[in-house]
Amino acid sequence: MKNIIFIAPPAAGKGTYSKLIKDNYHIPHISTGDLLRDKVKENSEEGKEIKAIMQSGKLVGDNIITKLLEERLTQSDCQNGYILDGYPRNIDQAKAYEELLQKIGQSLGIVIYLEVDKQEALDRVLGRVVCSQCGATFNTKINKFQPKQEGICDHCHHPLEARVDDNEETFLNRFNEYLNKTEDLINYYEQKGVLHKIKSQNNDTPEIMLERIKKLISND
Ligand code: ADP
Repeated sequence: MKNIIFIAPPAAGKGTYSKLIKDNYHIPHISTGDLLRDKVKENSEEGKEIKAIMQSGKLVGDNIITKLLEERLTQSDCQNGYILDGYPRNIDQAKAYEELLQKIGQSLGIVIYLEVDKQEALDRVLGRVVCSQCGATFNTKINKFQPKQEGICDHCHHPLEARVDDNEETFLNRFNEYLNKTEDLINYYEQKGVLHKIKSQNNDTPEIMLERIKKLISND
């Protein structure tokens, strides 16, 4: 099984598809954000330093990230492939990652870029409603994911609620900023010939998306 770098703008469904890939191929899903949050929980000096950087919204330094990644990627569950999420975020990190791979005897594998149309991503965010009881999500703006009865969960019949942080302006800012920041990285991997783009459309079910991803993994 190949290692996978998973890159996607906000609301593209990266969380959903990472989980599907993980369950289907029995490989770990490694998010640098999660690795850092685990470190922060340890309450060490380094943890405190990381917490301050994360709260400021800046990127944590390469030396810290590379060390955490080395510790994680050399564990036995990574020997048969893994999904990397949230890393690399820029070309410097991409180069540092290649050095790390050489050091630990792993290979780059493939890069999956999940493309999503801005308007479709916006509909996902603005239409998203979550069950207050069981956490199931529905979407009032996408036919396939509408609840059977407006405002009520299909599964446990409790009320559905929108998330307070899902508003148009904040979302569009995050989305545009993401595209700007990631453009160079996408080009970098495209030139290396390891980039695979997959379209994530609102009418595609997670099963259809998984089939696309599986085809791509087996063809490469
Ligand atoms: P988000 O997708 O909202 O940025 P993450 O969980 O991926 O959430 O990251 C949270 C924070 O962790 C980032 O703002 C950054 O400070 C830090 N972080 C995560 N991944 C990296 C990385 N690859 N390089 C540097 N810092 C990172």
